[in-house]
Amino acid sequence: MQVRKNVVILGSINVDIILKLTRLPKPGETMKIQGLETAGGGKGANQAIAAARSNANVHFIGRVGDDQYGKMMCELMQKNGIDIEHIKADKDNPTGQAYILLQDSGENSILVNSGANASIQEEDVENARHLIESADVVVAQFEVPINRIIEAFKIAQAAGVSTILNPAPATKVSDKLLELTDLITPNEVEAEMLTGIHVDSLKAQRKSANKLQSKGARNVILTLGSEGAYYLTEDNQEEAVSALKVKAIDTTGAGDTFIGCLAAKLSPNFDNIAQAVHYANKASSLTVQKIGAIPSIPAEKEVLKR
Ligand code: ATP
Repeated sequence: MQVRKNVVILGSINVDIILKLTRLPKPGETMKIQGLETAGGGKGANQAIAAARSNANVHFIGRVGDDQYGKMMCELMQKNGIDIEHIKADKDNPTGQAYILLQDSGENSILVNSGANASIQEEDVENARHLIESADVVVAQFEVPINRIIEAFKIAQAAGVSTILNPAPATKVSDKLLELTDLITPNEVEAEMLTGIHVDSLKAQRKSANKLQSKGARNVILTLGSEGAYYLTEDNQEEAVSALKVKAIDTTGAGDTFIGCLAAKLSPNFDNIAQAVHYANKASSLTVQKIGAIPSIPAEKEVLKR
C-alpha cells in the first residue's frame, strides 16, 4: 500500500469575489455589475486541497479573519480533509480577498487585499514546529510574509525535512531563502523574473535551472503551461515533460494543482521526481479542462484513470 505523505503548507487563504462586468469602469464612472460569485482561493488553500485530494495528510499554517469568509474557508478546507488546527482567526484583519473583475471579453483584472495572510506571525510558525519537524515536505508560496517562510524552512532544514518554494506571485527571492530551498518551482514568468532568462527552449530552461541552482536552490522544476514542465535535479537528472494534449477551458488553478500534487507524491529525498512530475502534469491537465480553481482540482483516482 502507498504511504500517505505528511505535507505542511504555509500559505495564503483567500476568498475570490468574482465581479462580472461588461467592461471596466472609467475613472469617476459608476457602473452596475452583471453578477457576483464567491469562491474559495488563495495559492496556499488551492495547493493544500490539491495535495489532500491526492491523498496526502495535509496540515496548514495560516490566518483568516474572524469573519464569515474565514469560517467558509476553514469549513471548505476541513471538508477536504485538511488539518486546520494551525489556521488562526485574526481579530484585527479580514480574510484575504481577491476581487476578480471579469469582463465580457473574458479578460480579467485582479485586485488583492492580503488581509490576515499578511499578518501571520513568527509564533504561528513556532506553534507548528512539531508538525514541520515531522513532515515529509514543507511547501510555501509568496502570498505570506517572506520572513515566515524563512523561519519555517529553517526549522525544516534543521530537522532534515524537504522544502518546496513556489515563488508565486513573481517576486525577487533572496539568496538566503534559496539556500533553504530544496526544490523551487517557478512558472515561465517567475523563472524570467528570477534569472532574467526567457525559458522558451530546452537550452534556456537548463540555463535558467542552473542559475537557480548556483544561487542555492538544489532542485528545480519549471512549469511551462501548455508546454508541460522541465526539471533538473542536483545530481543532474533532467527531463522535459510534455503537457497532455487537452482542450483548455480555464487554466485557473493549474499551477496550484501541479504543486499540491507534486508535494503529495514526491518522496522525501526526491528520488521519484520523474514519477511525481508526470503525476502532477496529468493532474493539472485535468484542472484546465474545467471552470474555476478548487472545483476543478482532481482526486487521485481521476488522475490515475488518465
Ligand atoms: P495558473 O497561474 O494558471 O494556475 P501557472 O502559471 O502557475 O498556472 P502553468 O505553468 O501555466 O502554471 O501550468 C501548470 C501546469 O499545468 C503545467 O506545467 C502543465 O502541466 C499544466 N497545464 C497548464 N496549461 C495547460 C494546457 N493548456 N494543457 C495541458 N496542461 C496544461
